[in-house]
Amino acid sequence: MNPESNARRSALRQLIGMTALGAWGALRHGAALGAAPAGAHPRDAIRGRVVARSDADYELWRQSLVWHRSKPARYPEYIVRAKSEQDVIEAVAWAARERLRVSVRSGGHNASGACLRDGALVIDVSSLEEIHIDAERRIASIQPGVRSEQLIATARAHGLSFPVPHCPSVGLSGFTLGGGIGWNYPQCGGVATFSILAAEIVLADGRKVLASPTENPDLYWAVRGSGPGFFGVVTRLFLQLYPLANTIMASSYIFPLAELGTVTSTLEAIRAQHDVSRAELIALLMHHPEVPADADPERSKICFFTAFAFESDEAAARAVLQPFADSALATRCVMKMEYQPFAYEGLYDRFFGQDDSAGKMARYAVDNVLTNEGGKALHALADHLRNAPGKDCHVLASFNMQLRPRADACFSWEADCFVGCYAIWDEAKDDPVFFDWLARSVPLMDPFAVGHYVNEVEGRGQAGHPERFRGCFTAANWERLQQLRAQWDPAGVFHHYLGHS
Ligand SMILES: Cc1cc2nc3c(=O)[nH]c(=O)nc-3n(C[C@H](O)[C@H](O)[C@H](O)COP(=O)(O)OP(=O)(O)OC[C@H]3O[C@@H](n4cnc5c(N)ncnc54)[C@H](O)[C@@H]3O)c2cc1C
Repeated sequence: MNPESNARRSALRQLIGMTALGAWGALRHGAALGAAPAGAHPRDAIRGRVVARSDADYELWRQSLVWHRSKPARYPEYIVRAKSEQDVIEAVAWAARERLRVSVRSGGHNASGACLRDGALVIDVSSLEEIHIDAERRIASIQPGVRSEQLIATARAHGLSFPVPHCPSVGLSGFTLGGGIGWNYPQCGGVATFSILAAEIVLADGRKVLASPTENPDLYWAVRGSGPGFFGVVTRLFLQLYPLANTIMASSYIFPLAELGTVTSTLEAIRAQHDVSRAELIALLMHHPEVPADADPERSKICFFTAFAFESDEAAARAVLQPFADSALATRCVMKMEYQPFAYEGLYDRFFGQDDSAGKMARYAVDNVLTNEGGKALHALADHLRNAPGKDCHVLASFNMQLRPRADACFSWEADCFVGCYAIWDEAKDDPVFFDWLARSVPLMDPFAVGHYVNEVEGRGQAGHPERFRGCFTAANWERLQQLRAQWDPAGVFHHYLGHS
């Protein structure tokens, strides 16, 4: 047995023991925590707002569950804005009795609007925002409504950090449950789901249980990667934290898209000759933000490559970025910005701000591959981007994913790179054009896929849906997830992946 994991487990037990909300004794036995007394309407037992489909402000509430502007035409019966964990328990019990299927909403950023389901009771956990940090043990205990910027700011005050989402408002629970490619993932345990040490989960029968490597390990396996098809409500996450990098630096290089080959071959050479595995490496194929939308693709489409260093001091950060500055990236680019210092807030603003295509609140659809041939996948999508129907469409590749098959998470692939194709647009009338553009990206990138990332597949029917979700797991892991769903939610209280319920 690994002594480090033993130490982590005992630290976790102590932390949970300390937390009043942990209710450790009850959790160990998976105690049923009750529902509204007989005769009382469940609405009376729920402290948070309950919105019914017949309410005048229903449509406002329904639409605001989804962060971006592509609000699916799916209509839940009730929306419960939970104010407490007990509200979650009451809402699940109510739904089970009324034979309403439950869906869960945290930060609302899921591209397919996974929380919006016809006939559902949506449990909105976004108001549950407590964060406790145990700095000594480097563990955060967070409620499920916590967002990217909240965790990074709180952890930073303790000299710690977490691989949080690249945009400040993304919900930590949707992000981590589905995988989570966060800032500085190469040095923070890889995708964020691997940093879930334990989770408190309200199950279909209203019991709250702990999932950890030693308590309900099969639930622990499922919660680490199943994302928008998980069969329970996570009411608390215990997350591994990492030392805060004192220096964050980025070097960016801009090329015309026609020069993509220079970027991919240089990157390949740098990675072969130097150890740059500590760096976060992102390539964006995009429309130049300062060039008019209708400009010729040869003048407007670019490859914007950035290497990010998260290090203890400036010298170390510069050393990580040096191979890029010494390469053809620096001599052949049309523009470079090297060794730029950042704080997290600056990173959000500079790279994924709301004025940028990659952080814009617009209509939104995405699909992706996890691959060991990231460069080839980018080339396969370059012409597709040239012919994109709008200037905010883009392709993003994250290298250095360092994914390895693992037994303790259903997120289990051998892959180096995530490549996502993003359709972003403004007008509802253009939906068919942009969905079609995204759907046509799938056969271009799929030949390079070893798998797909469940948080960013298109689940609304225009791509490979519903088979797309199946492709986010190995065949064995998909099968095991179905078995666990049948075991933990035999009556089907929780919605499955879109198209599978
Ligand atoms: C602008 C933007 C930036 C993004 N940046 C990144 C990024 O940097 N890296 C990355 O990997 N992804 C990123 N994503 C994708 C993101 O990880 C997914 O969209 C994720 O689903 C968002 O989580 P959420 O809680 O905000 O969304 P929601 O829509 O609230 O949640 C999605 C689904 O997750 C499940 N879920 C959420 N919370 C719970 C819970 N407490 N218990 C049980 N199930 C739950 C539910 O099925 C829910 O429907 C980004 C998306 C957008 C729109």
